[in-house]
Amino acid sequence: MRVQKKLKNKILSLITTVTCLIIALSCFILPALAAAGENEDNALMVGVPADRCPVFYQDADTGEIVGIGVDLMRAVAENAGYDVSFIRVVEPTLKEALDNEAYDVVMPFGSAVPSASGKQSIVTDNLIQTPFTLVTEENRNLPQLNELHVGMLHSLAAGAETVKQLYPGMEIALYGTMPECVKALRADFKFINDSLGRAAGDDLLRFWANRTLATFSDEEAMGRVTADRFVVLRRNGGDKALRKDDQEVLGPVRTYFMDRGKENRVLLCGGVYVVTSTDRQQINIDRMMDCARMAERKVRDTRNEGYAFYNPEQWEKGKQVADIINHLPAAIKSGGLHVWYQPQVNYETRKITGAEALCRWDHNKLGFLYPSNFIAVLEESGLIYDLDCYVWDKVCQDLHRWNEQGCHRSISVNVSRCDIREDRDIPGQFSRLIQKYGITPDQLRIEITETAFAENPDLLISNTNKLRELGFQVEMDDFGSGYSSLHMLKEVPVDRIKLDLHFLTSSGDQKKSRTIVGCMIQMVELLEMKMIAEGVETVEQAEFLRNRGCPEMQGYYFFDPMPVEEFEKLSEEI
Ligand code: C2E
Ligand code: MG
Ligand code: MG
Repeated sequence: MRVQKKLKNKILSLITTVTCLIIALSCFILPALAAAGENEDNALMVGVPADRCPVFYQDADTGEIVGIGVDLMRAVAENAGYDVSFIRVVEPTLKEALDNEAYDVVMPFGSAVPSASGKQSIVTDNLIQTPFTLVTEENRNLPQLNELHVGMLHSLAAGAETVKQLYPGMEIALYGTMPECVKALRADFKFINDSLGRAAGDDLLRFWANRTLATFSDEEAMGRVTADRFVVLRRNGGDKALRKDDQEVLGPVRTYFMDRGKENRVLLCGGVYVVTSTDRQQINIDRMMDCARMAERKVRDTRNEGYAFYNPEQWEKGKQVADIINHLPAAIKSGGLHVWYQPQVNYETRKITGAEALCRWDHNKLGFLYPSNFIAVLEESGLIYDLDCYVWDKVCQDLHRWNEQGCHRSISVNVSRCDIREDRDIPGQFSRLIQKYGITPDQLRIEITETAFAENPDLLISNTNKLRELGFQVEMDDFGSGYSSLHMLKEVPVDRIKLDLHFLTSSGDQKKSRTIVGCMIQMVELLEMKMIAEGVETVEQAEFLRNRGCPEMQGYYFFDPMPVEEFEKLSEEI
């Protein structure tokens, strides 16, 4: 070979450079002499990689290969009486470059390695050596070099072999780029699989899955999106639940390998997206996951570990949701929930004809709450039935007490759309209540909603039929507020329609609204149902309704909802 001839009886020094980036150890150890030889013009063509700044790299301005390695090699060559030219190696690896006879010398190699095709190479002594520093986290003892897991560049595979010879126990995983190599510090799954073996990666996953699933209810779920990305769907349990998860699940995952005598700490980065009621109406999983990912990226880019919320404001709201859900049982037990009554009046006779029971919550953390603060949350979390049963019971207690006082009243109670379920016997529940308190069924007017019809018409119809057979009155609440359908009016056998006057006050052609309300009153009369208008706020509205044949009314124009004591006093006065 040309090189052999050229370098006959000459010794070329070996350049060894070892650098270390924190824990990811990156070695380029080299120059190897592919072979030595003689050349007529006495100039050596040295093949080097051009991406090893500051040792070998391409000058951006001149395009020349420069660097410390170049300077040192020039000095060595000068002493030995050679000219040297540097050329960038075109082969993907230096081992392949050793097979290219265009190079007289290939640098840098740290030990003699066979070329890609199996030819032997000669390696000289080190030209330079640099010390490297190992850094550990949290005052941990420095690991034995032999036991280190090291990440190195693919292009330094030959160097890796040298390192392995020096430290036979060292496990080395190879990466394409330096950022990937540094990322290996995080002990991501590729690193775990590459350095500790696939089985170790699977063990970790199994451990995590088992830990997580042990804390889950039936409605919670976990799934794997890609290699080391997971999605966890969890009920919002607030700060406390998150801290508990962090301690009991994520903590042991982080230290999984360390707890088993290895050095790798698993770094977990997470983003939390709190699912809102709007999300529930229009489920867009991709968007939710994107939001969580955005939060996760923030963690990854800054702290490398831990979790962040997509939007702190959303988290505050989420915490409030958790406070509502978690405090409900205590509120039911300790009397934090109150039933207020809003009187219903006959505008012609000016008499109170009944009342609607409306819940209020004196929350020990969030203060005094109105239904708009908690009904939707309880509906979404499946707890509304608990609240409703409590309210119905309270109302029956009051009715019983009033009966004892010789005052036979009828009260409207709200039934959430979520209460109407195949596995729930609402008519049975009401019959048990009237038996328990010795009241009559006509004293309860049961308000159902259009939304319940939209969700499961057959079930709503059968429940309504049963309730009426038992003697209860059934009312259709909020009629006119949503997408009221004539079909529903035809199908559901209710006793009374509660016309929501938002219909009158909302924007649009007032004249048309009044015409429609007038026609609705007439239609309900023809259908032989009763009607009450709710949300009556002005005398004009009251007059209009009475003139059109709907004297039963409820609204701020007459009375606001009030505590039971006030309602009792008021009823005595009127
Ligand atoms: P709803 O059953 O339609 O009750 C009427 C709502 O209108 C009440 O609001 C009442 O305070 C309000 N209101 C009364 N007069 C007027 C008026 O003149 N103008 C206006 N703009 N509003 C008026 P509240 O008490 O905040 O209750 C809101 C909703 O929460 C209720 O609407 C009902 O759907 C639900 N809700 C209340 N208590 C319970 C409960 O114990 N169980 C269930 N499932 N739902 C409840
Ligand atoms: Mg109502
Ligand atoms: Mg209503």
